Amino acid sequence: MSSEIARILARLARQAKPGGRCWLCLEPSPDPLCPHCLADLPKPGRRCQRCGEPGPDPCRRCLAKPPPFDAVHYGCPYGPPLDALIHSFKYQRQWWLDAALCQPLLAALGGAEMPDCLLPVPLHWSRQLWRGFNQAELIAWQLGKALQLPVRCDLLRRPRRTRSQQGLTRTARLRNLKGAFALKGSPPGHVALVDDVMTTGSTAAALARLLKAAGCHKVQLWCLARA
Ligand SMILES: [Zn+2]
Ligand SMILES: [Zn+2]
Repeated sequence: MSSEIARILARLARQAKPGGRCWLCLEPSPDPLCPHCLADLPKPGRRCQRCGEPGPDPCRRCLAKPPPFDAVHYGCPYGPPLDALIHSFKYQRQWWLDAALCQPLLAALGGAEMPDCLLPVPLHWSRQLWRGFNQAELIAWQLGKALQLPVRCDLLRRPRRTRSQQGLTRTARLRNLKGAFALKGSPPGHVALVDDVMTTGSTAAALARLLKAAGCHKVQLWCLARA
């Protein structure tokens, strides 16, 4: 499905929903998450600004060998109650949850440096066809609208279908992602990759390496949650 069609469908779906209620507590609310539920969500807390790992900043791993991306921002640690919403959003085609899921991330982006554009992490075309949309694009559009940042869906490609990174060793993850991504055109100097959940960070690392080799000087990762 083209990006434009997915965007129109998402808007129609939102309009069709009985609005005005919080997705978590179902109380009347002007926003998709009410102020109480938003305040009750677990917060990222003290963490390494470079990779998002909870604890000291910078963390030991980044001191020894920093990742190719420069900063990680996320809405909350992956877990209840947002994990259920993320699951419905991704796997049950409930794309209208995008605005609710972006609220904690937007709140966490208060002090972040704004990039030149947002780059949603691409899906292989076969996966996007099966799912009906790329969840990272929906998130990027929400963020782009709220922060008035351009979203570029034309720069990154995923020409090779990869297996899930879950349960793979570090070496196997790197091998799995080899040649998975491609760049079409030249990127602006400062970009933020957008994804739903950061797990190992190897996807973001592979994309950041590609972008930096093409002249990008700063690559951030913005995601809904970090596992
Ligand atoms: Zn609520
Ligand atoms: Zn770190």
